Amino acid sequence: MAEFDVDLFVIGGGSGGVRAARIAAGYGARVTIAEEYRMGGTCVIRGCVPKKLFVIGSHFRHELEDAAGYGWTVPSASFDWPTLIANKDKEIARLEAAYTANVEKSGAQIVKSRAVIEDKHTVRLLENDRKITARYILIATGGAPNHGASIPGIEHVISSNEAFHLKKLPKRIVIQGGGYIALEFAGIFAGFGSDVTVIYRGDNILRGFDEDVRTHVRAEMEKQGITILTGCTVSKVDRHGDEFTTHLSNGSSIASEQVMFAIGRHPAVANLGLENAGVAINPNNGGIAVDHFSRSSVDSIYAIGDVTHRFNLTPVAIREGHAFADTVFGKREVKVDHANIPTAVFSQPEVGTVGLTETEARAQFSHVDIYKTSFRPIKATMSGRDTRVLMKLVVDGSTDRVLGCHIVGDAAAEITQAVAIAVKMKATKADFDATIALHPTAAEELVTMRTPTARHVRQAAE
Ligand SMILES: Cc1cc2nc3c(=O)[nH]c(=O)nc-3n(C[C@H](O)[C@H](O)[C@H](O)COP(=O)(O)OP(=O)(O)OC[C@H]3O[C@@H](n4cnc5c(N)ncnc54)[C@H](O)[C@@H]3O)c2cc1C
Repeated sequence: MAEFDVDLFVIGGGSGGVRAARIAAGYGARVTIAEEYRMGGTCVIRGCVPKKLFVIGSHFRHELEDAAGYGWTVPSASFDWPTLIANKDKEIARLEAAYTANVEKSGAQIVKSRAVIEDKHTVRLLENDRKITARYILIATGGAPNHGASIPGIEHVISSNEAFHLKKLPKRIVIQGGGYIALEFAGIFAGFGSDVTVIYRGDNILRGFDEDVRTHVRAEMEKQGITILTGCTVSKVDRHGDEFTTHLSNGSSIASEQVMFAIGRHPAVANLGLENAGVAINPNNGGIAVDHFSRSSVDSIYAIGDVTHRFNLTPVAIREGHAFADTVFGKREVKVDHANIPTAVFSQPEVGTVGLTETEARAQFSHVDIYKTSFRPIKATMSGRDTRVLMKLVVDGSTDRVLGCHIVGDAAAEITQAVAIAVKMKATKADFDATIALHPTAAEELVTMRTPTARHVRQAAE
């Protein structure tokens, strides 16, 4: 009889867990994967995918408005929120089924249950109180929205989870948060016609992004009529029937039909039985502490994706899951390289970024050249839309290597994915310059910026 019931037990059927289960099963491992909610996890069910569908849907407002300058007359367009929700739900159900089928096709077994760790080789399924022993346990439980410090009326506040299932489009919504989820939903609701107010406690939105990006995005969002209030927080939410009054720390208040918080996410480590096996938490970020191979403090237990709170992005969770399966079952050690991960904010306008910000580069390199341009995109010349694109390259002046690329404007995410290859390959500014422009595009600016707009040379210490 085999020593363990299975070779691998995966807790969590999201981006990372599913990839790990499929690849491990492909190596011949006997794999069981537990999912307590819906197969596909956050990205598919209530993250990237439905969010992007909403972004696309809300963007039609701009397209319809812009069409007039090109000769189109569009009879007054109307939008039906329930149709959007129903069609989105249908697409998400299709994806969930595809995820389930792909896991089953790989030979891994799915159990629909919450799983908790009993000891370093045992998990318990809460659905039927069954215990399963495993040579290896992979924790891929993802994360969940934060609601922050408890304030009066917090029970009236929704998170992104609920925003995907609202019965009707709010005429007015207050969104607390300045990160990518808050801004994406601000653009979504504004695009569909809601009056949106963003509340952020810091001095500007998109903390951690390049300063020029932060300024540019804020100005563009404000041009579209989104109100952004910084330096304050929500202190209380009162309910009056279907309406809410949001009280702010600066003494003012706002009436709305919904109040949403998107103030960060925490790793899903609670009530998982980590203490039963002695799995350590990383004190710096609250996620499961892991090494370069995603191994936890317990040698039979690994953790990947958002539960480790390293880079909370789907492709990262997938890469970590794949690397885990290669390392443990594929007989080849694979470390995930977390440098130069491209990332996007699907705000309106969109942000694409890879590599170092100007601030980070200037802290690390003694000579940094900046190439920056802001221009009116060709489409806006005839649509009359008041909008500008931002493109910025951060270059190591000593080696000429491109350290970072930051774009705000249409297709920024698509452009950034391609530029990320060059940045990852350590391309130099001279390589960018040697590339002939593709005309007429916005992205051609990336290969035609000849002269630095700023040069920062740190004087050697005397
Ligand atoms: C609104 C939103 C938008 C996003 N947009 C993007 C984007 O545009 N691009 C991007 O790259 N990333 C985006 N993300 C982040 C992305 O969704 C996550 O980084 C990714 O899903 C992490 O994958 P994971 O496998 O670590 O966890 P998850 O996908 O969260 O999967 C974890 C799964 O584990 C299950 N689970 C938890 N505990 C247990 C248990 N004890 N037993 C059984 N099952 C359990 C959960 O139900 C869940 O299905 C977004 C996230 C949100 C919330």
